[in-house]
Amino acid sequence: MKRKVSGYDYGECEICNTPMQEKLIKQDFWIRGELVVVEDVPAGVCPQCGEKVVKAEVGQWIAKLIENSERIAKAPRISVPAIKFGI
Ligand SMILES: [Zn+2]
Repeated sequence: MKRKVSGYDYGECEICNTPMQEKLIKQDFWIRGELVVVEDVPAGVCPQCGEKVVKAEVGQWIAKLIENSERIAKAPRISVPAIKFGI
């Protein structure tokens, strides 16, 4: 059974034409030199190639969220691995 979050139809993947499935994903953004992760973003994900699409209104909401420096300042911190390019 497919997991439905909103029931929105994301249509087919632009790359491989597989029907997209709605999932809650994480998206990351660099904002003023800081990596910010937005969790539980509803998105269409291609089960075949991994392509992701978000609805226009979700994209607009994310844009508002990541502009909100107060909200970012209060958000819990996670640590991420950082590796150097050198061999
Ligand atoms: Zn695809």
